Amino acid sequence: MALDSKIPEGPISEKWTHYKDHINLVNPANKRNLDIIVVGTGLAGGSAAATLAELGYNVKAFCFQDSPRRAHSIAAQGGINAAKNYQGDGDSTFRLFYDTVKGGDYRAREANVHRLAEVSANIIDQCVAQGVPLAREYGGLLDNRSFGGTLVSRTFYAKGQTGQQLLLGAYSAMNRQIGRGKIKMYNRHEMLELVVVNGKARGIIARNLITGEIERHSAHAVVIGSGGYGNVFFLSTNAMGSNATAAWKIHKKGAFFANPCYTQIHPTCIPVSGDHQSKLTLMSESLRNDGRIWVPKSLEDAKAIREGRKKPTDLSEDQRDYYLERRYPAFGNLVPRDIASRAAKERCDAGFGVNKTGEAVYLDFASAIERYGRDQAKIKHLDENDAALVKKLGTEVVESKYGNLFQMYEKIVDENPYVTPMMIYPAVHYTMGGTWVDYNLMTTIPGCFSIGESNFSDHGANRLGASALMQGLADGYFVLPYTIGDYLAPDIKMGKIPTNTPEFDEAEKAVRDQLEKFINNNGKHSVDHFHKKLGKIMWDKVGMARNAKGLTEAISEIAELREEFYRDVKVPGTLDGFNQELEKAMRVADFLELGELFAKDALHRNESCGGHFREEYQTPDGEAQRDDENFAYVAAWEYKGKPSDAVLHKEPLVFDNVKLVQRSYK
Ligand SMILES: Cc1cc2nc3c(=O)[nH]c(=O)nc-3n(C[C@H](O)[C@H](O)[C@H](O)COP(=O)(O)OP(=O)(O)OC[C@H]3O[C@@H](n4cnc5c(N)ncnc54)[C@H](O)[C@@H]3O)c2cc1C
Repeated sequence: MALDSKIPEGPISEKWTHYKDHINLVNPANKRNLDIIVVGTGLAGGSAAATLAELGYNVKAFCFQDSPRRAHSIAAQGGINAAKNYQGDGDSTFRLFYDTVKGGDYRAREANVHRLAEVSANIIDQCVAQGVPLAREYGGLLDNRSFGGTLVSRTFYAKGQTGQQLLLGAYSAMNRQIGRGKIKMYNRHEMLELVVVNGKARGIIARNLITGEIERHSAHAVVIGSGGYGNVFFLSTNAMGSNATAAWKIHKKGAFFANPCYTQIHPTCIPVSGDHQSKLTLMSESLRNDGRIWVPKSLEDAKAIREGRKKPTDLSEDQRDYYLERRYPAFGNLVPRDIASRAAKERCDAGFGVNKTGEAVYLDFASAIERYGRDQAKIKHLDENDAALVKKLGTEVVESKYGNLFQMYEKIVDENPYVTPMMIYPAVHYTMGGTWVDYNLMTTIPGCFSIGESNFSDHGANRLGASALMQGLADGYFVLPYTIGDYLAPDIKMGKIPTNTPEFDEAEKAVRDQLEKFINNNGKHSVDHFHKKLGKIMWDKVGMARNAKGLTEAISEIAELREEFYRDVKVPGTLDGFNQELEKAMRVADFLELGELFAKDALHRNESCGGHFREEYQTPDGEAQRDDENFAYVAAWEYKGKPSDAVLHKEPLVFDNVKLVQRSYK
């Protein structure tokens, strides 16, 4: 099957407008005859469900949590990008487009990214109209901060809780429609299969997670907004429930899976502290606006710190190596995440790590506290040479900007980050890969759409910070509501889709069989036992640095682990009730397949780009070395029975509006 990305003709800045002007529309009366299933109520699914219902469609929305408000989107801390140029610092739609394409290491589709930049400003207007309390400056204008990989300040935020506030906005919009009966909300329901009728997505099979009941739901189109698959690594900054099942089930039904190996490792997370952990905690990238990253200059000092003989505050300025400022003077601590992560690993691998395991670097706010303190002393006509006063005033400013993050750090690590620098280390955070979609956000299954983190569309091989919220809301509020109409226009007279058909029978049977298999398996080990093993293979061999040998080993180890899992997993409890072990078993079964495809994708991509770092392909100074001649394409995998048989399809990437150069942030 040839991939058709359906990118409209014309100059890049006019594609979306022109396309919208000529798209098929469904008139308001006919929208009432059309049903749409939305799986996921995070920022992508929530905004889509609310908007589609507002337009008049009948929406059925599903989430596995007890409320849409608990979607993983709520965890987003730092902010959301938009090309508003409120700071007057040179921002524009083109610059946001350019930064995003470059940030993704030239592995994203230009037309989609430009559309994203175009609608970014609308998102902020929409959210402000909903009452989302985005941070404001003293004069009342919306405030911005800087994120990595850009030279402008375009990140809108709500303290360290941006995702939560945006989600409350989307949730309010959804609730209005739930009240009107236009959205039927299915909390605590997990989609476990897609139903395809005559080649088109026409429904899903979902399990009621409270009663265990298996349900059939039909619709004229199905939208997947189920989030990312970072938890294939077991430990990640994602919510523990985040999983790949919805995306993987549609993949097995015919949706191609694109660039599975593109994963973002976030540089500023609280380091792993032991085997007991089931989750990692992010320290927002916004902290890199003010925090400076360093390790000791000498190996002796690093050793003394690890052994507790020295404290970081014992080291003078000239004994510290601010390695990002040294290596990347133009962007300094605000280099993109992939670069900051690798630089931390490089220092730690060289023996300069500062925690007991040698896998941590410092994020230090002392300079910012001093700088802000002096500013405040000047403003308040106080003595700027009074060190204690300056420290107190500066601490207050830092607390007002990042207080909740500092508090979170202190609760977890039991150290006061206003006094001792934070310790941080890279951790799995975001997956840029996902289901392949065309310009309409439709997968290779007609009528099955994918939005937000679950699709692959806009971030290439590396996501710039604050771009995921922008993409999820762009997809849900401003893109899908147009493009889905174009698809649905011919279906207006079709009537309800029946669920008593062989396609629904077959899909339901597949789900029941799998659930029963797990309950009756009676093996020896818990689901987590296998998930942890998978995570270790992924982190060691498919993680921050990859090579052909490790990837080849990972592929066979994951396949073996999958067999062992089916042989030996024990799932206690019953089918007909609340059973979290059973939920996990279904999810881990899918991770065990996805993990193998992930490694296969990483092995085939003989280049380094963004977050995909192949040790064999690096510049003499350790930067990612792309191969545009051979790999400037989207790798879209077609399922053929098992991951090892997946067939590769290539969507060539054409760059007409940005110049393909090796990325530099120096
Ligand atoms: C700690 C953290 C901080 C972050 N901070 C930022 C930030 O500051 N700025 C930024 O731009 N990005 C940030 N990100 C990334 C961003 O939060 C996510 O990419 C984004 O929120 C994903 O939104 P989503 O709607 O696609 O998916 P999610 O929010 O993950 O929602 C998924 C939804 O799908 C449902 N679901 C999944 N599977 C099924 C199924 N089988 N059946 C039924 N329902 C299902 C879930 O119940 C949920 O409702 C952060 C990520 C993390 C981990």
